[in-house]
Amino acid sequence: MSNEIKTQVVVLGAGPAGYSAAFRAADLGLETIIIERYNTLGGVCLNVGCIPSKALLHMSKVIEEAKMVSSHGISFGAPEIDLDKIRSYKEGVIGQLTGGLGGMAKMRKVKIVQGKGQFTGAHSIEVVADDGKITTVKFDNAIIAAGSRPIELPFIPHEDPRIWDSTDALELKSIPERLLIMGGGIIGLEMGTVYESLGSKVEVVEMLDQVIPAADKDVVKPFVRRMNKRFHFMLETKVTAVEAKEDGIYVAMEGKKAPAEPQRYDAVLVAIGRAPNGKLLAAENAGVAVDERGFIQTDKQMRTNVAHIYAIGDIVGQPMLAHKGVHEGHVAAEVIAGKKHYFDPKVIPSIAYTDPEVSWVGLTEKEAKAQGVNYETATFPWAASGRAIASDCSDGMTKLIFDKDSNRVIGGAVVGTNGGELLGEIGLAIEMGCDAEDLALTVHAHPTLHESIGLAAEVYEGSITDLP
Ligand code: FAD
Repeated sequence: MSNEIKTQVVVLGAGPAGYSAAFRAADLGLETIIIERYNTLGGVCLNVGCIPSKALLHMSKVIEEAKMVSSHGISFGAPEIDLDKIRSYKEGVIGQLTGGLGGMAKMRKVKIVQGKGQFTGAHSIEVVADDGKITTVKFDNAIIAAGSRPIELPFIPHEDPRIWDSTDALELKSIPERLLIMGGGIIGLEMGTVYESLGSKVEVVEMLDQVIPAADKDVVKPFVRRMNKRFHFMLETKVTAVEAKEDGIYVAMEGKKAPAEPQRYDAVLVAIGRAPNGKLLAAENAGVAVDERGFIQTDKQMRTNVAHIYAIGDIVGQPMLAHKGVHEGHVAAEVIAGKKHYFDPKVIPSIAYTDPEVSWVGLTEKEAKAQGVNYETATFPWAASGRAIASDCSDGMTKLIFDKDSNRVIGGAVVGTNGGELLGEIGLAIEMGCDAEDLALTVHAHPTLHESIGLAAEVYEGSITDLP
């Protein structure tokens, strides 16, 4: 049985990009429908990404801080881990947020059509619900926000339950004794941090010569220095074979730190990146161009090659981050509503919510070098910060990158406890075109970690020279 509905705007996918677009479209008076294959809104980010990982990282942080104060005279003893309770805490956090989105959709009269959608024409999408019910959605404008999925490799037996992607790792079914993280990117390192705190012996294998390859090497250094005590890193090393046997997953590697023999692991988390879902939507039926890898190209108004069809979020390209998708979603909805808006941010921040956090925004030093920018960096080490020393988190740093011709800040990084929270000031400074003097003359509260930003600007100006 099939039924047909008509709408001004249909949004395909209810992740952060999709729900942001739908809510903005509805707020601007457009009749809006969301098509989502899952039963909850929020997409990867809320259900199996940003939010559950942060709920678990919160647990991990508390464990590590308890260990730290134990060496300063307050001892809590070894943690007792109750996986069921941790899981229900995480599920509670997800439920609170996805439930909230459901309420926000209802309030705006945004209709949700549950099911898997595929284009059947330039103005129609067919949706097949879990119960087989088919709905045809006819639309004036569509916004594709179908996101991405973990990359799989042909030589890995992904069907074995001991081989995980990030979604499996977030399920927290067990704590493997020996866990291999394949890929030294943000997602793998965050999940590794959680499992190490809960008792796993964690090893990280990464093909390149540094983990978090997008960030500058000096920025990643404090993280590696600290995590060397908790992880075994195998850099410039590649996995060549993975075999599932009864007693474990055997992984062969080659490269600089490769063990001579295949190693046995209790679980392997494959975290080597994410692939866009562009090829799964029958977009060709609407005439929308999808590239080889599954990305959909758009202009700065988020328009695809078909004028009334837009695309936003992970499916349009890097950085695959929730906050990028949210802003793109707003632009797409506003353009449909007739506003002359563009997605044109100067910078998009990136944060690894690891221990310590590694965060950066704007140009990295290697990008500045590659673009031939006349730049200079200034760093304020947290070993000179009263607040960091008092809080026992002095293994961090705040780095700013300046355009030497204009003294404007063009990039920055904060590594350390809550570094990602401090990064906001640098992002704003870049968007507002601040120069070193603006930052140095801004009165930052003392003792805070954020005063390190003003102090880094003073280092650039030459008024601080006596740093450790
Ligand atoms: P998605 O969130 O992927 O949503 C797409 C939605 O479309 C899904 O709900 C999917 O079910 C639906 N869909 C797809 N195809 C169809 C179809 N044919 N029919 C119906 N529905 C369909 N980003 C951050 O910014 N900060 C973080 O801390 C962070 N942590 C992360 C941690 C992990 C473990 C992972 C995996 C990702 C993390 N990310 C983080 C990335 C972030 O989750 C994504 O960038 C973000 O979710 C992308 O949003 P989106 O709306 O483009 O797509």
